Amino acid sequence: MKLEGTVIAAHGRHYLVELPDGGTLPCFPRGKKSELACGDRVSVARSSATQGVIDAVLPRRTLLYRSNEFRQKLIAANVTRVVVVVATEPSFSEELVTRCLVAAESQDIGVLIVLNKCDLADRLPAAEAALAPFSSLGYPILRLSARAGAEALRPHLAGQTGVFVGQSGMGKSTLINALVPEANARTREISEALDSGRHTTTHAALYRLPGDSSLIDSPGLQEFGLHHLSVPEIEHGFREFRPWLGSCRFRNCRHDREPGCAIRAAVEAGGIAASRYAAFRALRGESRPS
Ligand code: GDP
Ligand code: ZN
Repeated sequence: MKLEGTVIAAHGRHYLVELPDGGTLPCFPRGKKSELACGDRVSVARSSATQGVIDAVLPRRTLLYRSNEFRQKLIAANVTRVVVVVATEPSFSEELVTRCLVAAESQDIGVLIVLNKCDLADRLPAAEAALAPFSSLGYPILRLSARAGAEALRPHLAGQTGVFVGQSGMGKSTLINALVPEANARTREISEALDSGRHTTTHAALYRLPGDSSLIDSPGLQEFGLHHLSVPEIEHGFREFRPWLGSCRFRNCRHDREPGCAIRAAVEAGGIAASRYAAFRALRGESRPS
């Protein structure tokens, strides 16, 4: 009998699938190459009382992943909101934030930036300065302290499937534990099902929240390669570029040294920040040929 379920934890080729009755089943994919992510909807057949086989992945509405030259790593499927978690301390990488935003924009997924540890008042001005370029582009920023005020995030997740992305140390676990009372129990369940009780690995995991929302916690990122994006996808990922796209003299303009480049003209006129143009060039330099 086929069941439809949701991948709620992933570890190598071993997945924990939530079934319609709310129970969970450790599963392997049938195909050799199929790679799945938390949030994937799958069709499952029981192969024994305690194990299942994933026969098919249902079409994904969104897929967030990162890649370098050699391989890609899925982060989460079917998410509707990317929550970029940064903190006042330790200082965060603005480049990593840019990459998270471009990845989300390329899939047309809404974004929320959470600035955590706002109780560390002396660190706040530097963090605000680092976030100012993103705020002036219209990205919403929620300021909170996960230790005392994680609840402020809950309304932003209502009805959404969110995914936390960010460097480690920013407070993702603290936020999850405050918002999901059964998070620790879930972590134990995942470890038992997927790596025989060893608590050695950090998994991506999907948690259900009241109000028809879900939250996927992904392991801390130190880098977010976007080799899989084409140049048009990267252009689209810089939201302030969009009004000028299509206005360059050459249709295949790389916005480099071409005459009549509308993007370069906008940078020179101050409509696009020079730092964002530099970030675009860096990402374009690593993108796949199109
Ligand atoms: P993760 O690596 O992103 O999961 O980060 P953690 O949740 O493990 O938090 C990293 C460190 O920051 C821990 O020592 C937390 O206690 C601390 N931390 C988390 N949230 C806050 C906060 O709101 N204020 C302060 N001062 N520290 C926090
Ligand atoms: Zn151009």
